[in-house]
Amino acid sequence: MALNDNIQYLKGVGPKRAELLKKLDIETVGDLIYHLPRNYLDLTSPVAIADAVLDETNVIFGRVVSKLAPARIRKGMTIYRLVFTDGVDDMSVVIYNSEFMFKAFEVGCDYILCGKVTGNMTSREMSSPIVIKASANDKILPIYPLTEGINQNYLRTCIKKALEQLNNESFETLGEDDLRRICLMPLDEALKEIHFPKNKELAVKARRRLAFDELLTLQLAMHEMRSNRRTQTGYKMQAHSIDAYYRALPFKLTGAQSRAIFECLSDMCQNAPMNRLVLGDVGSGKTAVAAACCYFAYLNGTQSVLMAPTEILAQQHYDTLCKFLLPLGVKVALLTGSLTAKNKRVLKEGIALGEYNVIVGTHALLQQSTEFNDLGLVITDEQHRFGVEQRAALEKKGKNPHRLVMSATPIPRTLALMIYGELDISLLDELPGGRKKIETYAVTGKLRKRAFAFIKDRLNEGRQAYIVCPAIEENETVNIKSVKEYADKISAEDFKDFSVGLLHGQMPASKKDEVMRRFKNGEIDVLVSTTVIEVGVDVPNAAVMLVEDADRFGLSQLHQLRGRVGRGEYQSYCILVTDNVSDASKQRLRVLSSTSDGFKISEADLELRGPGDFFGSAQHGLPKLKIADIAADSDVLKLAQSVAGEINSRGLLDLPQYSKLKERVHRLFSGEITG
Ligand code: ADP
Ligand code: MG
Repeated sequence: MALNDNIQYLKGVGPKRAELLKKLDIETVGDLIYHLPRNYLDLTSPVAIADAVLDETNVIFGRVVSKLAPARIRKGMTIYRLVFTDGVDDMSVVIYNSEFMFKAFEVGCDYILCGKVTGNMTSREMSSPIVIKASANDKILPIYPLTEGINQNYLRTCIKKALEQLNNESFETLGEDDLRRICLMPLDEALKEIHFPKNKELAVKARRRLAFDELLTLQLAMHEMRSNRRTQTGYKMQAHSIDAYYRALPFKLTGAQSRAIFECLSDMCQNAPMNRLVLGDVGSGKTAVAAACCYFAYLNGTQSVLMAPTEILAQQHYDTLCKFLLPLGVKVALLTGSLTAKNKRVLKEGIALGEYNVIVGTHALLQQSTEFNDLGLVITDEQHRFGVEQRAALEKKGKNPHRLVMSATPIPRTLALMIYGELDISLLDELPGGRKKIETYAVTGKLRKRAFAFIKDRLNEGRQAYIVCPAIEENETVNIKSVKEYADKISAEDFKDFSVGLLHGQMPASKKDEVMRRFKNGEIDVLVSTTVIEVGVDVPNAAVMLVEDADRFGLSQLHQLRGRVGRGEYQSYCILVTDNVSDASKQRLRVLSSTSDGFKISEADLELRGPGDFFGSAQHGLPKLKIADIAADSDVLKLAQSVAGEINSRGLLDLPQYSKLKERVHRLFSGEITG
């Protein structure tokens, strides 16, 4: 039996089960072995029936006393019962519909059962337990992700068989020297221990090895994507001075901006297309960098396109680019879904004929009917909102155009390498000077009225405010204030003299844009919103950000929210309301009051809560990981990055001893990540 053998030829599988296993992405014997437990059941310390915790999963050791007659309660539903004793008390074991399982029990034999116990003090019942013959050796049981028709026992048996039969084929991807140096468990051992660990420590070590492999493979695959792009030929641009652009800007660039622009222009003068991420905090001035690149592309006679995730952001970029570039003779167009059909057609004709040099837009840019004359530069803003496919669709409209991705989410470097490993990175780690620090306070709900009074004072001075509430659509757990009710309430009470607007994720995009526009124009004083307020929306008159239930958000997310204010000349404030007074919560919020450096905050966030929280739950753009957990395994990530770096810099992947590793990289490369 070999790794790449079709799973149906493993004893006990066959074509029917193979179809079912396919749903778990198991097609080969190797896939089966890499179907890892999501958890373990510890059977080493069973409890007495009398001590079982009701309504929870318990492990109970005992003997089958008797089997009762099956009860057919309706067509297709039979209930089987047996009486089970731990020597002191009895309990009833209920099995639904599985005659097979019922028959497998033998009266007088000992078993370990694991399942939810229900009932009361005098009568207890366990239904659909996991069953082990008590003589079995495995006392730590793997729990696998399942699909219909495939149960735990079955998977366990198959995996055990597969591991036995593969005894002479090795999975190992690293050399012995490597393993010793980085102190990791050999892969073959790890694969056995992860399924059937002798003890918990070994399970942990095994998982660590597999997490390392996963991260290493990913790093290497990303590196490969990057190298592949380096072998393409793009628009090799000629050096031109962009001094005119610098002179036309209404401000002096920060050092970080100048550096980023220099890096971009150098990239664009190479044979291979640029492949760069500009990573900068909100307000770090990414647009000015993008505009410089557009101008450079213009001087080189090619078109640039800038795609933003929403109309309002596209409009904002359009305004900025017009301001910076029109005086230099660059023609800028705005293409969005809300144009009339006729205007859209005319504009598209103009774009195709090359009458415009820079085209700003939304997803409308991706439509097939949008054609460019000579597209040399593709810029996407707020990248985590766009799928890789969308980026690729836009780039296909040119011939290997230069790629510039802008992300407003400062993240720790290790994570940046992980998420954007296929891109070169320019950091904008410096905010333009002259900004006032945003005063940040954490308060309990008791002080809400005072906070509202404070906001009213600011509104009377002519400012505007945001109030952000956690919302149902972004959080599966219930028990959250309904944003709508909240808005109605404050509109009728505290803010009855002001205009209160509402923005949430269930509104259609056009409605959202409309509300944002009215806020931008000052028609709305207080905007109550879920976290959908656009990253990057610039309303310089907004001076207060109040966040309800601040504890529900990750630090990076709070930082992003705070970044909506303090964008103009006015002193701005961020009020974090939370009734969680635990030390952990206080410590978290203190990070925010003490620094405005997004990179520092993201490091703290990663340590405290893990990566899932960076961008709210949905759009974090992290590659799908099956094993590794970036927060918990950050040391493994660093290790994998350093090993990947060494393998890449010395070109080791082509050596025979790494052929297995190389094969895994290619498999990942062809399957899971594209672009
Ligand atoms: P972001 O990086 O969040 O996209 P923007 O490009 O929207 O930031 O810039 C934020 C604001 O700062 C804009 O109003 C922009 O004109 C201004 N800005 C950008 N660079 C500088 C600078 N070097 N000095 C002063 N203001 C700047
Ligand atoms: Mg921006």
